[in-house]
Amino acid sequence: MIFFFGTRATSVLTELVPNLSCQYCGEQRMYLVISSRYFHFFWIPMFPIGKSTYTVCNHCKQTLSINQMPQEYRIAIADQAAKAKTPVWQFAGLMIIGVCIAVPILIGIIAKITH
Ligand SMILES: [Zn+2]
Repeated sequence: MIFFFGTRATSVLTELVPNLSCQYCGEQRMYLVISSRYFHFFWIPMFPIGKSTYTVCNHCKQTLSINQMPQEYRIAIADQAAKAKTPVWQFAGLMIIGVCIAVPILIGIIAKITH
């Protein structure tokens, strides 16, 4: 049998960062991009693995990860980054497995009570 599994990423947040200019070209429009990576099994999201945070300059397209950002960038994005939540649907696979375990147990309990 062939199993299809791996990881995929989805964008969680893309927002303009106020009061931040590009350190390379001076552009005022800097975007904060946060993506969330998840493990999938037959394309069903099972659980999230982690988030990636980047800033992207609208003009020169310089892209910096959290480890590459200067301190002023990290301060500027802190509040916006904090509100980026992992989407609940990335736990869909675990929820399905949970339901498949819980439902037979509940049916068993109900059957014992009613007999
Ligand atoms: Zn730039």
